[in-house]
Amino acid sequence: MTFRENANIGAGRASRGGGGGGGLAVGGGIGTLLLALVVMLFGGDPGAILGGGQQTQQGSTQGGDLDECTSGADANENVDCRMKATMLSLEDYWTSAYPEADPTSATLFSGSVDTGCGQASSAVGPFYCPLDRKIYLDTSFFSQLESQLGSDGGNFSQMYVLAHEYGHHVQNNTGALQASQQDRQGPESGAVRVELQADCFAGAWAGNATRTRDSDGNLLLEPLSREDIESALSAAAAVGDDSIQERMQGQVTPHTWTHGSSEQRMGWFMRGYESGDPNQCDVLNAGSVDDY
Ligand SMILES: [Zn+2]
Repeated sequence: MTFRENANIGAGRASRGGGGGGGLAVGGGIGTLLLALVVMLFGGDPGAILGGGQQTQQGSTQGGDLDECTSGADANENVDCRMKATMLSLEDYWTSAYPEADPTSATLFSGSVDTGCGQASSAVGPFYCPLDRKIYLDTSFFSQLESQLGSDGGNFSQMYVLAHEYGHHVQNNTGALQASQQDRQGPESGAVRVELQADCFAGAWAGNATRTRDSDGNLLLEPLSREDIESALSAAAAVGDDSIQERMQGQVTPHTWTHGSSEQRMGWFMRGYESGDPNQCDVLNAGSVDDY
């Protein structure tokens, strides 16, 4: 159990879709996708476009009926619903915390997927493509998380991965993401700092989701213990690392690279979580990556 069982996570909120969320100015034609998770099937055809008031399903391999995605209990039960609810919460949070960032979308795929950064196979793991400004998550990675974790079946670990990737999207808007390209090597490098900031951003969102009531007075998530958080972060790191993909064409490439130590990742996540303030996440200008 991760979402509060009675939390309202779907119905009324999805209905604001179609025009983009939160009064943000968005280009015509993509509004319906902004709230959406697009479930990609083998070959990369969209199997289901969720959110935005539109639902089409063409044989989604998992998750089933997203009509049953209105409560926290539904999100705890169903990975598609869980990701949709997490995405909506992230979008709400960042629309308020950093209005300059436009909403993004996440694509769940299995097999392979075509992206603005090239074609990706499920071997790549979760990643953010700065060129098309979207998040890509392969379902086999998520299944591995579920099989490896105990108490909540990997639910929070999955949500953390999505929140971390959303953090990269925020960084694409702040300009911080460039630091990962300009300074790639070493434990104090820009690349490591960008990763640790994405963890801190994920923590800031999670802290808000456990403590801030929505307009109906409900909290979204159950409180997270330090142990819950440690197990979620370590599971995600054990199963695979994300990568920020910037190639213009050709294959998206998996690469192993450092995200900082597990202590550093935990430290920065907790700094975000406890403060609930993304302004506490200025890893790029910290004297050291250990100054969390
Ligand atoms: Zn990352």
